[in-house]
Amino acid sequence: MSKGEFDIIQRYFQRPKNDDNGVVIGIGDDCAILDIPQDYQLAVTTDSLVSGVHFFEDVDPYRLGYKSLAVNLSDLAAMGATAKWVSLAITLPSINEVWLAEFCRGFFALADQYNVQLVGGDTTKGPLSITVSAKGLVKKTKVLTRNNAKVGDIICVSGSLGDGAVGLSAKLESLTLTNPQPFIDALELTEPRLALAKSLVDHASSCIDISDGLSQDLSHILKQSQCYAEIALDKLPLSDAMLDEIKSGNITKQQAWQFAINGGDDYELLFTISAEKLIKLRLELNKLNLSCFDIGTVTQQQLVNEETQSLVFTYKKQAVALKSTGWDHFK
Ligand SMILES: [Mg+2]
Repeated sequence: MSKGEFDIIQRYFQRPKNDDNGVVIGIGDDCAILDIPQDYQLAVTTDSLVSGVHFFEDVDPYRLGYKSLAVNLSDLAAMGATAKWVSLAITLPSINEVWLAEFCRGFFALADQYNVQLVGGDTTKGPLSITVSAKGLVKKTKVLTRNNAKVGDIICVSGSLGDGAVGLSAKLESLTLTNPQPFIDALELTEPRLALAKSLVDHASSCIDISDGLSQDLSHILKQSQCYAEIALDKLPLSDAMLDEIKSGNITKQQAWQFAINGGDDYELLFTISAEKLIKLRLELNKLNLSCFDIGTVTQQQLVNEETQSLVFTYKKQAVALKSTGWDHFK
């Protein structure tokens, strides 16, 4: 990009220094220098959003800026980390100042909400794509991983499932809804569960964020923890918007479950926890005005029709056949 264009971008991304955030050197040198307090470890995650693959070319730039950070913060939450810093690499076909201003407004609205500081980045010319790398801090003994779920643990999620996937179907016009807006909002203005993660570090045995669908993301925990699971369809939390569409006959209950299980784009946390610790967690969450929903249990190997299944779905305690797929970028 030309010098002039570079200056324009600088203007949008250069922001006043936030003193208490451990940034020794921020934007303006070859690297950012960040302070890691003793007893803490650095959690680092990177996500790319590519035009035409992860978002529609005509997406609202405010929402794109917001979501490009939100998906990264969701990964930090899934590890039990507190979000601290972020770097942003942005490839733009041309400089459109109105677009750039809106993108930054969305990005920094979320960054400011969680006191996350932009510490570096890169700008290039080319097809529109956004790569965000978020960094957080987590206490050495409190990291939430995928490999520690125990047989007998309860499986919980942080919020209603399926709305993001319904929002995507509504945008692709493969679903007709009475009121598509709450679903599109769920898809584009996803809320990273950093507040809940703060409580989970003391109680949960494993955790992941649901980006590719409940069944696929849960299967990562089951594989790494070497256990099995049973999910009760009648316990899956569905939003009021989803229940309204079911009532109107636009979505069947079975479709709603499919969206909840295989849809993806929910960015809720999925975690396992002992029954005893779940009671303590619920007391803590009540005080914070937060909630979680138990949807199943971690089990020992189970046979269904003489076949081993890592994941079994039940309805009113009876096993039901349900396809679990999830999102695979290379399929
Ligand atoms: Mg993740």
